[in-house]
Amino acid sequence: MGARLLVIGSANVDLFATVPRHPSPGETLIGRGGQRSAGGKGANQALAAALQGADVTFVGAVGEDPDAQLALAGLREAGVDLGSVVTAPDSPTGLAIITVSEAGENTIVVVPGANAQVSVEQATAAVGQMGAGDLLLMQGEVPRETTEAAVRAAREAGRRVVLNVAPWMALDHDVLTAADPLVLNEHEAELAADELGLTSQGDDPAATAQALCGAGTASVVITLGAEGAVVAAGPDEVTRVPSPRVSAVDSTGAGDAFTGALAARLIEGDDLVAAVRHAVRVGAYAVQHPGAQPSYPQADAELP
Ligand code: ADP
Repeated sequence: MGARLLVIGSANVDLFATVPRHPSPGETLIGRGGQRSAGGKGANQALAAALQGADVTFVGAVGEDPDAQLALAGLREAGVDLGSVVTAPDSPTGLAIITVSEAGENTIVVVPGANAQVSVEQATAAVGQMGAGDLLLMQGEVPRETTEAAVRAAREAGRRVVLNVAPWMALDHDVLTAADPLVLNEHEAELAADELGLTSQGDDPAATAQALCGAGTASVVITLGAEGAVVAAGPDEVTRVPSPRVSAVDSTGAGDAFTGALAARLIEGDDLVAAVRHAVRVGAYAVQHPGAQPSYPQADAELP
């Protein structure tokens, strides 16, 4: 059997509303939309990787409610193994309420619900099932103790870990530096540098990536939106990878498309820079289409 990708993370329902402008506190506005689609950074990345051809197991938690079906439908259809997803009896399925203004600015409220119930026991049991070439991918939407326990268990077993600390959460230093790579956007990279006690490199992401490597992380990828990404495969080895120029309509979930595609390529045996060259194309594809999961390319899609 080939290598598998294990994603331990969040699964949500995303609820979209479009408004002329964002409401002030106490104000009621009339909006449009109301579409609901599957989301959550864990599920998004698992789907993006599966659509790029990876064999994926997703481990998470949903509620005992109709949203659970919607949150997992895309993963099920893409053939992702959902055998270790648990149903949390007393929590709703995670929900993200996404408000998009006509100026294109988002506000997002995430209600973790069942995602907060992804336990240390559930996560470490899944890590214990990993095979030699398998890779663990995690984000910042399940509890800190679960993330730390899973990453440590994977490293102790000699498994590679890709860690996308999005949204940012404080993690013990040995966990942050266990990542290979640590995948962050520019804002999260600043917070990670601060957490590790590094001097700010201002707005120089290449220097920040190098500094994070210097602090002991094996490799670091910082995404730069339309500018692509910068990769540090060691303190002295930095590569800038430009993104294809595209006309962006909605960047929701683009970072997840990028990270899922990156992990899929690493499992195939690509080196980090080659994997990032592919990932920026998948991220650029996603921004050309609305929504998160609905914007991800199928295996046969033509990438920019
Ligand atoms: P996040 O959404 O997590 O903050 P970024 O904005 O850095 O992450 O975007 C992640 C990736 O998505 C980028 O590295 C790039 O590949 C792609 N991307 C995002 N915005 C654009 C854009 N406007 N044009 C082309 N690619 C984009």
